[in-house]
Amino acid sequence: MKIILLGPPGAGKGTQAVRLAKDAKLAHLSTGDMLREAVKAQSPVGLKAKSFMDSGALVSDEVVIKIIEEEIGSLGWGKSFLFDGFPRTVAQAVALENMLKGHGEKIDHVIYIDTSEKVVLERLGGRLTCRKCGANFHAKNIPPKKAGVCDNCGGELYQRDDDKPASIMNRLKVYEAQTSDLIKYYADRKLLRRVPGDEEADQVYAAVKKVLGL
Ligand code: AMP
Repeated sequence: MKIILLGPPGAGKGTQAVRLAKDAKLAHLSTGDMLREAVKAQSPVGLKAKSFMDSGALVSDEVVIKIIEEEIGSLGWGKSFLFDGFPRTVAQAVALENMLKGHGEKIDHVIYIDTSEKVVLERLGGRLTCRKCGANFHAKNIPPKKAGVCDNCGGELYQRDDDKPASIMNRLKVYEAQTSDLIKYYADRKLLRRVPGDEEADQVYAAVKKVLGL
């Protein structure tokens, strides 16, 4: 099974992906996490990606396609995957389709977490991310048990540079301009499953499981 989670920044893709990957035994592939790791390691990809990420712009298709292809290749093409934050452009979607086809594989479902701008702004503005394991919390909606500390691994929680107000607005613009076309792309291919994204995480998750028949 190969599933894509689609939706604007702040739709809760990461939160849903962690739960779904665990319950449905899917390998969770987040290009955002991979890129943040590369930035932390100061690898050539990380050095190239950092300024784009901080401002909320997209990293080039070429770079992102390469890292995802390497990751899938190293895990095994036949495995079950959950894509989170990839693809983000039609060019990436076409590349993914072609690379999977080349290995006799395909995308089974695309879950679009349909979230309003009001909710997205509220979620991103209060988001706290663990420096160590990447888990997400929210100052108000999902507060950590101990302020500033990750419940899962004890790592330090911080506000991502791209969760600051100027970058948030830019990310939403970028989403509209470059990513929202994917809704039609996958609807045309009869792969799109829409779930309402403004609810609490538990309700969104119940809807996700329902559309997948889990
Ligand atoms: P995310 O954690 O998915 O919100 O991604 C954080 C940032 O990483 C994005 O704002 C982009 O700068 C970059 N990024 C993540 N995934 C992609 C992608 N598929 N294509 C281009 N840039 C990406």
